[in-house]
Amino acid sequence: MAGEPQADCVFCKIVSGDIPATVVRRTDRTLTFRDINPQAPTHLLVIPRVHHPNAAELAAAEPGIAAELLVEAGAAAGDDGLESYRLIFNTGADAGQTVFHAHVHVLGGEPLTEGLV
Ligand code: 5GP
Ligand code: ZN
Repeated sequence: MAGEPQADCVFCKIVSGDIPATVVRRTDRTLTFRDINPQAPTHLLVIPRVHHPNAAELAAAEPGIAAELLVEAGAAAGDDGLESYRLIFNTGADAGQTVFHAHVHVLGGEPLTEGLV
């Protein structure tokens, strides 16, 4: 059921503490931790504690939590001393989504010149 923990979900296991992560920020509704395979000097993931398969479905079901992901992304970037950063929401396997628990990537710490947009 939407919002319920999923037994096969790596991010639900990070929320429950079953898988360790380098957590940098916590709120009642979100968790922010460092990506295990960083693509930039700062590479963080901000996730809702509740399970939704992607950002759009999270926003439809829990708009307040979706907004909080963005607030926490900005705060976490600030904690790392970043004025500039990039947020990425991959949705679907063809877009590169590999973990089907909503999350936003926070990337920065070097000039980010590559990209589609
Ligand atoms: P996606 O490709 O789904 O947008 O992003 C998933 C991200 O989760 C990837 O960048 C990947 O490196 C990261 N990731 C996958 N498993 C783990 C894990 O167990 N711990 C952490 N910290 N990051 C993970
Ligand atoms: Zn999950």
